[in-house]
Parts: sequence; structure tokens; C-alpha cells
Amino acid sequence: MKYLRLCEFYEKIERTSSRIDMTNLLVSLFKETPPDLIDKVVYLTQGKICPDFVGLEFGIAEKMAMRALVYAYGKPLRDVEELFKKLGDLGKVAEKLSSMKKQMTLFVAKELTVSQVFSTLEKIAKTSGEGAQDQKIKLLSGLLTSAKPKEARYLLRTVTGRLRLGIADMTILDALAMAFAGGKGNRPIVERAYNLCSDLGEVARVAAKEGLEGLRKFTVRVGRPIRPMLAQRLSSAREVLSKLGGVAACEWKYDGERAQMHKKGDQVWIFSRRLENITDQYPDVQEYIRENILADEAIVEGEIVAINPDTEEFLPFQELMHRRRKYDIEKAMKEYPVKVFLFDALYVDGQDLTSKPYPERRKILEQIVRETDRFCLSQMIISNDVEEIERFFEQAIEAGCEGLVMKSIRSDSIYQAGARGWLWIKLKRSYQSKMAEPIDVVIVGGFAGKGKRAGTYGALLCAVYNPDRGVFETICKVGSGFTDADLQTLPNILEPYKVDRKPKDVDSKLEPDVWFEPAKVIEIIGDELTLSPVHTCAWGVIKKDAGIAVRFPRFTGRWRDDKGPYDATTTSEIVEMYRMQLKKIETE
Ligand code: ATP
Repeated sequence: MKYLRLCEFYEKIERTSSRIDMTNLLVSLFKETPPDLIDKVVYLTQGKICPDFVGLEFGIAEKMAMRALVYAYGKPLRDVEELFKKLGDLGKVAEKLSSMKKQMTLFVAKELTVSQVFSTLEKIAKTSGEGAQDQKIKLLSGLLTSAKPKEARYLLRTVTGRLRLGIADMTILDALAMAFAGGKGNRPIVERAYNLCSDLGEVARVAAKEGLEGLRKFTVRVGRPIRPMLAQRLSSAREVLSKLGGVAACEWKYDGERAQMHKKGDQVWIFSRRLENITDQYPDVQEYIRENILADEAIVEGEIVAINPDTEEFLPFQELMHRRRKYDIEKAMKEYPVKVFLFDALYVDGQDLTSKPYPERRKILEQIVRETDRFCLSQMIISNDVEEIERFFEQAIEAGCEGLVMKSIRSDSIYQAGARGWLWIKLKRSYQSKMAEPIDVVIVGGFAGKGKRAGTYGALLCAVYNPDRGVFETICKVGSGFTDADLQTLPNILEPYKVDRKPKDVDSKLEPDVWFEPAKVIEIIGDELTLSPVHTCAWGVIKKDAGIAVRFPRFTGRWRDDKGPYDATTTSEIVEMYRMQLKKIETE
């Protein structure tokens, strides 16, 4: 398959903002792709060469990419920089340079194929160590020399992490169901396969080669992250109890980093909430798993919490960020020790537990964990008594937890991989304000700061995600809650996501000074949710010609780097919160 063909699809996808058209285009693309290439096409379409948990990145910053352009097209760096300033998109720069070259020479290069592009990109990502930069530049410029202008545009965008076709995972799943699994009606089977392996390329390959039958055979595998089960939210223990059938397993909601821990003999993997491989950040946790999980093979879940080693008190979630560093991890391990609280078992010695009810999973977890002072089970009570649960909630808060996660213990309380269902419901501390708890929003725009804030942003335009429409809907402009240090670093943090026009998966009536690709997630709190003629969140759902906005929003100081844009709070959660708030006002 020619790479040019893929680029033609990219161009069409880029031009449409309708999700249906985008899905149909993907269906055509997948149908015409040879099954042996389909995984590669799926990765490339997402601007990747493998699923995120493999952790391979191109490692090509803008400067390096410009050097590759110099190499490929024989132009001085100054000209390339100048062009970049003018066009603001390295992809367009490459396209322009490539078309100029075409006019100058009659040289006809061999056409690039998808396999060739993929394997070179793979080489680029895998090149590391001494001389890696030069090697990467050579590989990229080699590709560019054979690329047509359109191909050059997308190659450059891909390697610099700016392909941005705006295709959510869920749209790819829809397209796969339509192309290979007998239609959208079978989408749950495709989605289940994805939830169990977290690898869209693999799902696509099996779908294309083996159809529905192959997809049905997907099982949990050690070493492959499972998409995490998530919780709904309610604001009182009474409401939660009635939703869960009058009784629930109530557990402390630890405020740390979610970890999915896999063990196979001596081999250990730790995956984050976003399913990145974070094994190397936690050599201590690896050891705990090796020593204290009494099974040959297991997948368990828990929360890693930073603690003060002198007092054993829990420390805020941010302290774990010290573990993000690449070097000196041993030192960080000593300075910032952690404790693990286990709360689920998904697989043990050949047995997939995801379809077992929670009490059974918890029992197995208790059997295979040897508790120590750094590796233990989450605090839990089973209760049907509102007052008892409220006392347990207060204890959790007292200990530095965020509240409780209350879990169904009925016979249908399976592990719902990848879903935010009503089998787990979180109960967090209510604030004085009417808005019960913070939400996670995606930064999509910036308003230039004035006066004291000159040179940084005065406010950020923030959005929640609407998975049904596949778009980000704005919910507020937030300018409070930022410290001077936050304000100083904001432009740098956001710079890589700047785009020259409104991303097509952003729905906004406001026009900020700068648009950002939806990528960075922050936590905000406000006084209440109100109806708004300006913000597009849940437009028309509660009232005609109105959306929902956060009143008096403030940044809580928490960057949710453990969340991607599609993990932000969703529109339907906001609608639910708005309705709960109304109920609360009525009963006050
Ligand atoms: P939040 O911002 O509330 O952490 P989230 O979207 O990351 O939200 P939710 O599914 O809404 O996640 O809430 C459950 C989260 O709470 C889990 O992802 C996990 O990290 C954390 N957690 C802490 N203690 C527990 C527990 N005992 N059981 C389940 N999850 C727990």
C-alpha cells in the first residue's frame, strides 16, 4: 500500500468535522488496507508506531526536524526557520520545500510504501544513545528525499507529534466494527477486546484477519495492561447506598497514583492510569510485588501513595511527581518513599477474574497478598448503615484520603474494564460551595495576560469531553488559583500545544487569543454550575440555547498529568452534577 494513499485519507479526514463522515472515511481506509498492514495503519493514523504502554517515542523536537529539512532539501537553516515563522507548521514547511524541489529537478523518486515509512519511523524511535540525534536526522531526511509534498507534510507532523487528525479511540473502534465485525451493533465485542488488551493495532489485526470470532476470543494477558474500571460520583452516602442496593463495600479513596501491577515469575510490570509503563519509576514497588504476591502470575490493582517516612502520614499526590525523573531514581526512592494499597485482583494463575463479582475478587486478593507495612490491602468495611459509612468517611478524610469509593457487592459486580459505570461510586468531601467537588478540564485556549500578567496568560479556556459527539465542549475561563510560579511556567508548558486555529474537535463560541490542541488536563473547582449562553458544555440539554458553565472557577494547583484529554470529566457527568446540585438546592 502506498503511503500517499494514506495521506490522501488524512487530508479528507482533516477536512471534515463530522464524526460520521470521519468514521466512514476510516471504514473505507480500513477496508482497502491489506490485513497484514492494518495494525500499522491504525498506529500511524494515531501518530504513533505502537500502543502507549510500549513507551516508544520519536524523540524529534522542532529544532531537530528543521535540521532534517536542511539536510533533505539543501536549504540553509535560516530559510527553514524563516518559513516556519511564516507558516507556523513544520508539516507545511516540509510540503513547501518539497514542492520547490520538485519544480527544480526532474528526478523521480521511488514511491514510498506504508511498510517502508513505518519501519523507518520505528528505527527513528528506537535509535538512542550516542550519536542518536544525527542518526535520527539522517533517517528522517532519507524518507523526505523520496516523499511527495503531501507525504512530507504528514511525515513531519507525525515525527514531531503533531499529526492531530482528531480521531478518538472510540471512533476507530466504531470504524473497525463497521469494517470487519458485522456493523456497529457488534461494537461492544470490539470494545471489550480493546479493554482487555489496550492495543488498537492488535484489535484491528484480529478483526481484519479473524473477524468477530477472533475478537470474541480475547482474554486478559499478563504484561498487557487492561483499561481501568472507573467510578461514577454521587454526593451523599445515602444516595450511593440506594444506588448500590442498600449495601456496599466501602473503601478509603487514597490520593495517589493508580497502579496496575502485573507479575509473571520474577518479571514485574507497573502501568499507570493512562496505561503507560511506569515500572522503572518504582523499583521499591517492584520488589514488594515480587516478594508479597503469593502467586506465579497475577494482575492486581492498587494506589501508590507518597508517605512521610518519619510519621507514616500520607503526603499529597504531587509528591509522587519526584518519581517521574529519569535519573537518580534510587535517590528519589529514598527521599520520597511510597506505600501501596491494593484494591482489586483481575487475574491470578491462569484464571481471568474480570467477570467474577467483587467479593470473590477481593477474597482472592486477600489470599495472594502477604501484607507488610508498605504493601497492604485498602481499608474496607461492608456496610448498609449510613451513619457508619459517614464515620468511616470522616476517618478516611482525617487520614489524608479523598473520601470513599463505594463498590457494589452484588452478583453482577464484575470488573468493568474501560467503563465508568455505577458499580463503583466515589464519594468525595463536599466543599462549602454548592459545587460538590473539583472537575478535570482540558485546556483548549488562552487569553493573553495584561499588566502584572503580561507575557503569560490572564485566563485559560477550558473544556470537558463529550464522548457521544467526540468533541471538547467549553465550560469556563479560569484565571484564579494560579500562583506566581504557575503563571511563569504556563507559557512554556502550553507552548508545544499551540495551534493556529480552533482544533476541529473543540466546540467553542468564544475566540481566545491562542488555541491549544486538547492535551493538558487541570483540576478546577468552582462555586456552582450555572446555565450559560457562552459555554457549549451540554448545549441545549438542560435548556434551549444554553450550556452549562462553572461559576467562579479556580485552579486547585493540580495538573492531572495522569489523565489524557479523553479522560477529563465528561459532559454527561456535568449534567448529572448539575441535576444533583438542583436537587440539593431544593432540599435545603
Ligand atoms: P479522581 O480524580 O477522583 O481520582 P479518576 O477519574 O482518576 O478520578 P475515578 O474512577 O473517578 O478515577 O475514581 C477512582 C480512582 O480512585 C481510581 O482511579 C483510583 O486511582 C483511586 N482510588 C483510590 N483508592 C481506591 C480504592 N480503594 N478503590 C478504587 N479506586 C481507588
